[in-house]
Amino acid sequence: MLLLGRLGAGAAVAGGFPTLARAAVSPEKPLRIIVLGAGIAGLSAAYELQKAGHQPVVLEARGRVGGRVWTLRGGDRIRHTGLEDQTVGFDDGLYLNAGAARIPSHHEHILGYCRELGVPLEVMVNSSRSTWLYDQARPEAARVRQREVINDLRGALSELLEKALAGGSLDEQVDADTRKRLAEFLKSYGDLGDAYDYRGSTRAGLLKPAGATANQAPAALPPLTLRQLVDSPSLSMVLFEENILMQATMLQPVGGMDRIPAAMAAALHAPPVLNAEVREIRRHGSGVRIVWRDRETGAESAADADRAIVTIPLPILARIPADFSPGTAAAIARVRLSESVKVGFQSAPFWEAEQIYGGISFTGGDTRLVWYPSGTFMKPKQVLIAAYASRAQGRSLAARPIAEQIAIARASVDRLHPGHGADLKGGVAVNWSRVPFSEGPWLEWDDDGNDMAATKVLDDPDGPFLFAGSHLSHYSGHWQEGAILSAKRAVSLALQENVP
Ligand SMILES: Cc1cc2nc3c(=O)[nH]c(=O)nc-3n(C[C@H](O)[C@H](O)[C@H](O)COP(=O)(O)OP(=O)(O)OC[C@H]3O[C@@H](n4cnc5c(N)ncnc54)[C@H](O)[C@@H]3O)c2cc1C
Repeated sequence: MLLLGRLGAGAAVAGGFPTLARAAVSPEKPLRIIVLGAGIAGLSAAYELQKAGHQPVVLEARGRVGGRVWTLRGGDRIRHTGLEDQTVGFDDGLYLNAGAARIPSHHEHILGYCRELGVPLEVMVNSSRSTWLYDQARPEAARVRQREVINDLRGALSELLEKALAGGSLDEQVDADTRKRLAEFLKSYGDLGDAYDYRGSTRAGLLKPAGATANQAPAALPPLTLRQLVDSPSLSMVLFEENILMQATMLQPVGGMDRIPAAMAAALHAPPVLNAEVREIRRHGSGVRIVWRDRETGAESAADADRAIVTIPLPILARIPADFSPGTAAAIARVRLSESVKVGFQSAPFWEAEQIYGGISFTGGDTRLVWYPSGTFMKPKQVLIAAYASRAQGRSLAARPIAEQIAIARASVDRLHPGHGADLKGGVAVNWSRVPFSEGPWLEWDDDGNDMAATKVLDDPDGPFLFAGSHLSHYSGHWQEGAILSAKRAVSLALQENVP
């Protein structure tokens, strides 16, 4: 049975102990399960346990739920270990999703919760042909609209392929009938002329727009040459939207990503215990004993339960005294998280004068990109992401003082949109490796010495301990969907008869 109690003389728990969830369904033997961490994985585990009629209690170290789903608004403090605090100065109604910001349309589990819990969604414009490709390292290479490179490249490659087909170079690979049909398709695919040559296309942009009268036809920009195309700045980013995780339709909750964890927490009969920093994870009889400290009062408490679902980020978990088996402890200890930096500013939407509404310009360099807001079109003040860098670029940016990170991000915007660096106000930078209770954005399976095979042991229960969190999924921490998948899996394991 679950026991919640004080440890040590004089210890007290602010706000009293949580009421246990009332069972919606009544299994014969409701289990008491403590969930460690109220990120999406912990909230999802608790919500699913509650739906199955069990009694989850969630312990969360921060004063808020959501973990890496963190929406910053005016007045919020950004605390970084070892650095000065920053205060967010955005106007009312504006926000920055410092962590999770987009939901692909095929992430059915997170979208399922939005539907179930009534979280309103809107389109998040993840890519736009009006945005720019640029390379800060090659200022001599002018910025170029994505639509120009994408369509001129398609036209040029279609013409080349058609020439190769017509010239017989591919006769061994392609039979005559296929060649004929492919040629027809290439003509429309590449917008080729009657002679199967590419002379430019309005798809790539307009030198002159359509006019008021029927004979004022639009004129296409002259096409970029093949040489100019392969020299285009940030060329590989033309494939950005082909990634299944980046394709339209991309969604976001209206008002900030934290609307999702807030709705999940509100659906729990026993609200997560906030400011409850887990300090010991013990076996107790056939179950568990969890010791935590109230970060506001300093009081220590303990809770006993049948099982624990542990979603605490692994580098933090590795430092918590715990009765894990040696194999589990070793797997937890070897994981290294990556780095990711986001820099945001409030600004008048100068980009709308360049016909940009949402989407991302790619800039190269340590700041990587400029990400334009969705959901605030034409508002006089909006929030622009001026840098979002991970891995090596994230580390390089994070190695500098915060003020420098903000200055570098501003300069990058100024290079891409000349003269507009000065429009950016109240910059804030989030360095995820320094965010307490996260200590990193995610892990990279192919970097930092991480080893997927060595971490696999965490997929199995270790006696009464089960593990969940987006870091365990194939998404490796990059997506909320992985957090939910891993939580649902942990819940189904926890409810099996033979666990522990
Ligand atoms: C920069 C960035 C961009 C991202 N972009 C996207 C995106 O666009 N779309 C998307 O779907 N996902 C995105 N993600 C990933 C997504 O945010 C995460 O995968 C997901 O939120 C992780 O959920 P989790 O519950 O597994 O972990 P967490 O959210 O890390 O939850 C773990 C919880 O444990 C708590 N905790 C830590 N230590 C203790 C302790 N000692 N005691 C008690 N509690 C403790 C933490 O406070 C936290 O609340 C992004 C993440 C980052 C960082």
